Amino acid sequence: MKKKLKDMNFKGKKTLVRVDFNVPLKDGEVTDDTRIEAALPTIKYLIKEKAKVILMSHLGRPGGEVDESLRMDSVAEKLANLLGKEVSKVDDCIGDEAKKAISKMDDGDVLVLENTRFYPGEKKNDDDFAKSLAELADIYVNDAFGAAHRAHASTTGVAKHLEAGAGFLMQQELNALSKATDNPESPYLAIMGGAKISDKMEAIRSLLDRVDYLIVGGGIANTFLLAKGYDMADSLVEEDMVDLAKELMEEAEKKDVEIVLPIDVVIADDFKEDANSKIVDVDKIPKGWQSLDSGGTKTLEKYREIIAKAKTITWNGPIGVFEMEKFAKGTNELAKALAEADAVTVIGGGDSAAAIKKSGLADKMDHISTGGGASLDFLAGKKLPGVEALDEVEPTDFEELE
Ligand code: ADP
Ligand code: MG
Repeated sequence: MKKKLKDMNFKGKKTLVRVDFNVPLKDGEVTDDTRIEAALPTIKYLIKEKAKVILMSHLGRPGGEVDESLRMDSVAEKLANLLGKEVSKVDDCIGDEAKKAISKMDDGDVLVLENTRFYPGEKKNDDDFAKSLAELADIYVNDAFGAAHRAHASTTGVAKHLEAGAGFLMQQELNALSKATDNPESPYLAIMGGAKISDKMEAIRSLLDRVDYLIVGGGIANTFLLAKGYDMADSLVEEDMVDLAKELMEEAEKKDVEIVLPIDVVIADDFKEDANSKIVDVDKIPKGWQSLDSGGTKTLEKYREIIAKAKTITWNGPIGVFEMEKFAKGTNELAKALAEADAVTVIGGGDSAAAIKKSGLADKMDHISTGGGASLDFLAGKKLPGVEALDEVEPTDFEELE
């Protein structure tokens, strides 16, 4: 099992913590601090344990060079507000400037380093860059579950050079998501939605080995329906994925997995909130119209029937353009059905999490992951490089019983 905070000693130690502070910004201000909040338990614990808390994260896509609009200053400010404690910030994440700032820290102080993606070595997982990060500290903690599916210098490379353990958020995510991967109670239903099938194809393929039912809804369902020969008119489809969709449906049949596609859908004559809309069967989408929500009456009936049978349910990707009220019904009704389900319910994906929060049913779910790609990879059974890189420890007898 992976080393965690309780297995480590932090007193007086320079502790380099990889957090996921990749937050949305508007005009230089943080517009949603959920990810900062999620890292607070680890940060507070380290402060209490008298570590020198050195935080690092990527922010946006600066492309390996300094981008003034993607500096970590407003993030550090937000963190200071949330902690009710002074937080310093330094304008580099490696080198003399960073070392100097760290040398001034007292035990229990918090410092935010500059955006790690200002260096090309971050995404390349360059070992010299990883060593430069490791040189700053005595210990490494990874609490950035949302970035754990990426083998970057700050998520994996640095762990080779320091004692390395998992933070509370990382630990909590792994524990919660494991309920759907370690002997999940059957029937197991996976629900896949979202816009782009190419993002989810690999996950769907792996899930076929794990699940009993697979609901494919939202934009990605269009390509499956097209593969079955339906005319999807102006709906979003990925023509180059049609063959793959066919292949997956054949594979599902061989593996005795029921793939559930929409029976009727909400269509619109434009991609707009005030477009004309109606519910039609999937074989009756008129020219010039597009499917924007899988939440047709018959489809939802079918979903409810399967959800009522399931004991384990994972959901990744809204099944309609939920950002527009008119096309949010399917997603909202699905959320309601999950809230009432007698099953372990695990939600992954940024937009799915936002949709559930918007529906007010978040506290009815067993787990809403803070990671999009990371949760998808984990549920599909892939090893996460950011987790694999952490030290192993022997479980205590007590933990084994847990
Ligand atoms: P998540 O972030 O939960 O993994 P994705 O990013 O894969 O989800 O997909 C979310 C997006 O999919 C939303 O912006 C939503 O509007 C879009 N979407 C869902 N259904 C459709 C559809 N039928 N047509 C076009 N876009 C859709
Ligand atoms: Mg998304």
